[in-house]
Amino acid sequence: FAPVDLRLVVEEVAEQWNGKQSHAIHLELPDGPAYVYADHDRLTQVLHNLVSNALKYSPAAECIDIRLRRGEGQLLLEIQDYGLGIPADSIDKLFTKFFRVDNSDRRQIGGTGLGLAIVKEILDVHKGKITFRPGPEKGSIFTIELKEYIPRSIGGKILILEDDDSLARLMYETIEKLELPI
Ligand code: ATP
Ligand code: MG
Repeated sequence: FAPVDLRLVVEEVAEQWNGKQSHAIHLELPDGPAYVYADHDRLTQVLHNLVSNALKYSPAAECIDIRLRRGEGQLLLEIQDYGLGIPADSIDKLFTKFFRVDNSDRRQIGGTGLGLAIVKEILDVHKGKITFRPGPEKGSIFTIELKEYIPRSIGGKILILEDDDSLARLMYETIEKLELPI
């Protein structure tokens, strides 16, 4: 794990899809970096899986929206589409391996039913969360919550603190308290 700027992950993923499909991808990003302490490649995969679903289950829509914003100590990443949506009785099975919604409007759309199970697994490893809610009129909104990582620096060196890295935290706090020159 390392500090990862989620804004960059969003921009990279959007860039990779641009031109490969007919939907426009709208981005709403915060000013300044938005760090999480994470595995960059796995977070990229999370976003790819969600964007891939948003695109393929919205055959008649023109765009998808990706929003990144700050909550309290959290970063919230939302992927919204205006497509087929998800029937209420399927919601609790969405993140289960090999689960696919089976109805006539999507029988032609291929997949293995693994994308969301992988997303869930990766977020669990990051102590993050994912929730689904239906769009206001149609479509789907997936929201990811991850703890925001505030990089601290001493003498221009970024100090990497993990939640359970209590020794490093104690050192940092002591140095800060004593206002030691470094
Ligand atoms: P894979 O991602 O492994 O190629 P998949 O897309 O079928 O296959 P998941 O990504 O796990 O599998 O999604 C599970 C099911 O949830 C899908 O089959 C689809 O019916 C439904 N689903 C997921 N995302 C959306 C979405 N944005 N809009 C509508 N339905 C969705
Ligand atoms: Mg999928």
